[in-house]
Amino acid sequence: HRRVHLLTAHEDCRTADGVRIEVLANLGRPGEAVTARDKGAEGCGLLRTEFLFLERVRAPGEDEQLARYQEIADALGGRPVVIRTLDVGGDKPLAYLPLPHEDNPVLGLRGVRVSLREPELLRTQLRAILRVRPVGVCRILVPMISSRAELRAVRALLESEQRALGLTAPILLGAMVEVPAAAVLADQLAAEADFLSIGTNDLTQYVLAVDRGNPHLAARLDGLHPGVLRLVAKTVEGARVHGRPVAVCGGVASEPRAAPLLLGLGVTELSATPSVIPDLKAFIRTLSLARCEQVAREALELESAEAVRALVSSTWPGL
Ligand code: PEP
Ligand code: MG
Repeated sequence: HRRVHLLTAHEDCRTADGVRIEVLANLGRPGEAVTARDKGAEGCGLLRTEFLFLERVRAPGEDEQLARYQEIADALGGRPVVIRTLDVGGDKPLAYLPLPHEDNPVLGLRGVRVSLREPELLRTQLRAILRVRPVGVCRILVPMISSRAELRAVRALLESEQRALGLTAPILLGAMVEVPAAAVLADQLAAEADFLSIGTNDLTQYVLAVDRGNPHLAARLDGLHPGVLRLVAKTVEGARVHGRPVAVCGGVASEPRAAPLLLGLGVTELSATPSVIPDLKAFIRTLSLARCEQVAREALELESAEAVRALVSSTWPGL
């Protein structure tokens, strides 16, 4: 049946009861965009731009960044490209970006906190993104947002660069929801953001207080924990106040087992590892959203990730 999945991989994806779900690709290395297109990605839902910035002596300039973003946009043939602004910090040091020593870098200067401390670095990246053609194909996603003020500050820089380039068409600006406060305050963020994208890798780490890199705790780091799922529900609830779409771009978006729960909670976009896209789309086509909503409601009442996984396995035994 894999062959069938490949044949239908390029078609739009709807649940069995007709609800449109977009399936995009997470990209983080050059060349992956071609694979993503071949696997049926409807665009890139998360471009991790760190690959352009790490392991070099100076930051990539505007033209170099533009060339790399344009390559990816071209490979995806006009489909949307969600470009995440640089997400580095104490754990991913850059020679040209001296940051103070931190005892706890995961709770320190990273993501948007670094960008707002180094606005020239951010402005250069925003200009490169704004120059990708066709205009509007790129969307901007900001990592580690924990307040509306941070997003407002990024929007102010974005608008200033847009004016400088003489661009008037709107460009979509989204917030990553990966800090618990962002999920809890999703209604406030959605007032400022055009879309929200949940980064379940960090959200799980922060809400469960489990270091995502600690091998001794790996078994506890489960994005289907009811504590995480309740924050997904809270995010969707907040986004709906302003009619904003919610995506998931963390690791659980690549797990077919998570899909019925995420869709049942109101997520309408999944951004996944390219290789899983054909099977993920095929599975979504078999799902009834009404049934997903029912099972997701039950999952929110369970007491552990294991219990959630058992519920999914008993409802969809083929998984
Ligand atoms: C996440 O935190 O879920 C995410 C998508 O970002 P990264 O894995 O790059 O931190
Ligand atoms: Mg993250």
